[in-house]
Amino acid sequence: MEVDRFEGWLACPDCERDLDPVAVGVLGCSSGHRFEANRRGHLGLVASGWRLPADSGGRGVAGHGTSTVTPVLAAMLPRRGRVLEIAPTGPDLQMAMLGAGLIPAAMSSSTRALDRIVSETGSGAVLADPARRWPIRDAALAALVVTGASLAPIEFHRVLAPGGFLLSATSDEDAAQLMDDLYPWFEHDQSRPVPAGGWTAVRLRRRRRMLAW
Ligand SMILES: [Zn+2]
Repeated sequence: MEVDRFEGWLACPDCERDLDPVAVGVLGCSSGHRFEANRRGHLGLVASGWRLPADSGGRGVAGHGTSTVTPVLAAMLPRRGRVLEIAPTGPDLQMAMLGAGLIPAAMSSSTRALDRIVSETGSGAVLADPARRWPIRDAALAALVVTGASLAPIEFHRVLAPGGFLLSATSDEDAAQLMDDLYPWFEHDQSRPVPAGGWTAVRLRRRRRMLAW
């Protein structure tokens, strides 16, 4: 498969150097590590010696379906740039990003979820463990979409470009806690939290520097 979509934003999971296409279907870093896209089209970027957690197929938040919140998140997307969705549970938001002229990609520890994304949307799909350092360069992304995945505020802040956005959705009762957890790294932009059928969708702007006390 062609791997051009992976050019310019990935980092080697073994040595953290830039990772770019070096041959048909193959990405490599300057240390000589090589990674191949599988036949179904997703790229496996797991450091050697690490095992991925058991495949959950992607999980939603608190048992809610994502259909009510997808259009709300789609309306919060930036106008241009690369947007990475962490642990997507379905292809809807990737489709919305494609329709909006963005460069969408997905990262997940679920091969099943990624294979569905690739077959239904053609987006770039990266198999990685979101609980570890992400195989993504600093300041590579215009926005991140995190709904079902655990919060990793240091990684969110690192991979977003200055002025980048974090879009998230959580159950209504957890929305205040979400803001508290992200506050040192992210601030409210001019948008307000939007309730959407049991979810609250929020868009936060990356702080220039983490707040220190
Ligand atoms: Zn490497």
